[in-house]
Amino acid sequence: MTRHVVIVGAGPAGLAAATAAVRAGAQVTLLDAADQAGGQYHRMPLDTYETKRPRILERCDWWPGGAVWALERHDERRPPRVHVISGPDGGTRRRHVLEPDALVLAPGAHDRTLPFPGWELPGVFTAGAAQALAKGEGVAVGDRVLVAGSGPFLLPVAASLLAVGSHVTAVLEANPAATVLRGWTQSPWRLAAQAGKAAELAAYAALLARRRVPYRTGRAVIEARGDGRVEEAVTARLRADWSVVAGSERTTAVDALCVTHGFSPQLELPVAAGCALRDGFVLVDEDQATSSTGVYAAGEVTGIAGAPAARAEGVVAGWVAGGGSPARLRTVRRRRDEGRTFAVRLAAAHPIGRRWSGWLRPDTLVCRCEETDYGTLCRTADVSARAVRLATRAGLGPCQARICGPTLAELLDTNPHDRPIISPIRLGELANPPEEKESTP
Ligand SMILES: Cc1cc2nc3c(=O)[nH]c(=O)nc-3n(C[C@H](O)[C@H](O)[C@H](O)COP(=O)(O)OP(=O)(O)OC[C@H]3O[C@@H](n4cnc5c(N)ncnc54)[C@H](O)[C@@H]3O)c2cc1C
Repeated sequence: MTRHVVIVGAGPAGLAAATAAVRAGAQVTLLDAADQAGGQYHRMPLDTYETKRPRILERCDWWPGGAVWALERHDERRPPRVHVISGPDGGTRRRHVLEPDALVLAPGAHDRTLPFPGWELPGVFTAGAAQALAKGEGVAVGDRVLVAGSGPFLLPVAASLLAVGSHVTAVLEANPAATVLRGWTQSPWRLAAQAGKAAELAAYAALLARRRVPYRTGRAVIEARGDGRVEEAVTARLRADWSVVAGSERTTAVDALCVTHGFSPQLELPVAAGCALRDGFVLVDEDQATSSTGVYAAGEVTGIAGAPAARAEGVVAGWVAGGGSPARLRTVRRRRDEGRTFAVRLAAAHPIGRRWSGWLRPDTLVCRCEETDYGTLCRTADVSARAVRLATRAGLGPCQARICGPTLAELLDTNPHDRPIISPIRLGELANPPEEKESTP
């Protein structure tokens, strides 16, 4: 009997999984909350997308704008039921329930921004949001923009901003040069297989050099100032643990700030499916199978290793989930393992220093949706994490802790991903019965 494989997420991992599962002979339903396939890496303007639509979308049941809002564990011998809400928000969204034979979770990651005084000012963007506006809409977030945070992702963000006409004043990497170099250069031969990624980064670095954009290490934005919107960024030199070197503060005039400190995996779906985690990522075996029966995971939820590794993981997950023989996967498994080496290097070269909270003040907002400040969190943290949530509502606002969750988890030692409702759904929508799957959105 043909297996029905449901794949959540149509980024590099999910698209590769769909292709492999179709090749293995499965019937595939591919869902993405976004209207376009491609995920973060292949984001593009609508007219370009029309001509570059991945071909796999014609060969599977493709549900754009289909958000999985819950996974229901009903039988431990089977994958969970997949609850989907689809259609334009604010209009009549429809509910569907899928019962797959195998489920591949490829929801990716989102960029993480640590709080700092003034980060709620208009004009302060996560680097991912600024890049999405530049790549997807051709919109520049400002004329004079400072890009700061940590990780190689800052380079493509700066490149995207330059492409839409912004003047990028500098790119600041918070880790000192010694940490970055030590991370990337340990056992360099093990990175030889990532020559493509290295060449991509070298091209960005060359572009910054040509456009005279300085790249500085060991310096971070510790405050944004402005009257009604950002006008100045205060930067400071940091030690390896990200404590601020007193007296090293400088002020730069900007009209936009893009700040991102690496990525956080989107773990809500895997946690809802009962998948075990290790070191903050989904634990998978050689075949990308998770600890939950019939559930596979691929891409950035298993480790931050870039698009090529996400693709390799997607091929393995989709092929095995679709009933293909794991014996035929030797080459792609090697590519996947090389990607994992890259992930280890990335984490070593661009860690988050544990003393970053030193730049917070009592009135610094940590949860921007509920306007919970650091001082209030510290005062209630002694009671319990539950008390913090109930008393301050931190992490319970419209973004559902996507922005502040990892920070709250670090400050309060809690699990931010344990949420029965993964994406917001209205009570009226819940009251409507789910429609048959045949009524594809
Ligand atoms: C903001 C951002 C910008 C990036 N830019 C670059 C770049 O310029 N260059 C580079 O080399 N790398 C970039 N990366 C990293 C790169 O995107 C990843 O390496 C790669 O895309 C990971 O692929 P993935 O398939 O695991 O996840 P993604 O590409 O993130 O795809 C995951 C997909 O899952 C969907 N999804 C999530 N939850 C649900 C749900 N509940 N229901 C339905 N669908 C869901 C999302 O809409 C998304 O389309 C970026 C990452 C981020 C977060």
